[in-house]
Amino acid sequence: MKKLYFITGSQDLYGEETLRQVAADSKEMAEFLDSRLKSVKVEFQPIVRNSDEAEDVCIKAVADKECIGVITWMHTFSPAKMWIRGLQALRKPMLHLHTQANEKLPYGSIDMDFMNLNQSAHGDREFGFICTRLNVKREVVVGYYRDPDVIAKIERFARVAAALDYSRGMRVAMFGNNMRDVAVTDGDRVESEIRYGWNVNYYGIGDLTDIADGVTESEINEKMSDYADKYDMATDKTDSVKEQARYQVAIEKFLKNERIAAFTDTFQDLHGLKQLPGLAVQDIMAKGVGFGPEGDYKTSALMAVMCKMAEGAYGATAFMEDYTYDLTRGSEKELAAHMLEVSPVFAANKPKIEVHPLGIGGKEAPARLVFDGIEGDAIAVSMVDMGTHFRLICAKIKLIKQPEPMPKLPVARLMWELIPDFRTGAAAWIYAGGAHHAVVSTALTVQDIKMFAKFTDTELIVIDENTRVD
Ligand code: MN
Repeated sequence: MKKLYFITGSQDLYGEETLRQVAADSKEMAEFLDSRLKSVKVEFQPIVRNSDEAEDVCIKAVADKECIGVITWMHTFSPAKMWIRGLQALRKPMLHLHTQANEKLPYGSIDMDFMNLNQSAHGDREFGFICTRLNVKREVVVGYYRDPDVIAKIERFARVAAALDYSRGMRVAMFGNNMRDVAVTDGDRVESEIRYGWNVNYYGIGDLTDIADGVTESEINEKMSDYADKYDMATDKTDSVKEQARYQVAIEKFLKNERIAAFTDTFQDLHGLKQLPGLAVQDIMAKGVGFGPEGDYKTSALMAVMCKMAEGAYGATAFMEDYTYDLTRGSEKELAAHMLEVSPVFAANKPKIEVHPLGIGGKEAPARLVFDGIEGDAIAVSMVDMGTHFRLICAKIKLIKQPEPMPKLPVARLMWELIPDFRTGAAAWIYAGGAHHAVVSTALTVQDIKMFAKFTDTELIVIDENTRVD
């Protein structure tokens, strides 16, 4: 399990006895947080008393591959010039925990010794100033450290820090390029690697068909029995389903061999494949592997990062596409789907495996999962390349039950309502340049995306109940 360093600042002026108490309190706090946080370990670090020690612990955090971030706390006053070199070296996410070892003031017994020992109100302000002056990105969490709300906020930070760690050095494969002439799925792959750590590379679809040709009958049968366990086989076209099983085995081998966390394909480049991968991609997406259709590497990588961020949180996270509307005034609804590739994490019922022809692409009828979508509060997150910078658009949405059955729609679907209302939500998204591809999540919130945007210095536009187009 990855870890957070717990770093406590102080200074030499207080003498040995006070520093021993500072260390004891900090250790207790680190151990308590370690016992409460589910997704990460918390590791106590020796008390920092001067600039050399500050620099040393920050460099140690940077060099430790298991360390995904730091928690800092100034138990006493810690003159902040001593933090300058350390903070300049610290290139890991920081949570500044503004707390105390004691919850209540001991009114009857408080004396100057107590006040000198417990002065984070003083010391954390000094530390906060130098962080702001140095433009250090950090999350400030305020409150007694045993408060469940404080623990929840640290847990959120830990999940985002884990996602940032995962993002750095993440490998993304594009089978083919992005769909011809499409603007929003394109992007600056060099900048993606500089800013997010995404190593995005092109692969020929032939690389995949070669592996697919070598897939054995027993590997296919194993995948077929996995499908049978999870899904309803609602077709007698077994050969079409087997073809998808072959693709899935091949894609999974490729992902493993090349250490790929997210991938794209495009229906315009399927040489050697009889079908567009549908069921295969759907089942893979449900495992938290990023996917973007039509060569949309940004959505694919963002999905993988958001799935990592959602680990340990309850809910569903995957790629979706805006498709069509019910524009009935006052009860407008959006229908989201895709040609095939909708993740079964969004299924409200047991998905059915069906085989239907595809209108575009000129390939054989592909097998796919068909289901109705879940209900609940969610966010839709889109990443676009503005030419000068990347922009994230994060909209709150409300997933709803489809009002009537859609028996002739041959793809999985989700329906949702826009926030604050249909006209404002849709106009704001379009003004912001949001794509028709997004990552939808019922596990994550606007707060998670805000934190990710802050630590990656990405422009973020939030569309929520407070949004007004003007
Ligand atoms: Mn699409």
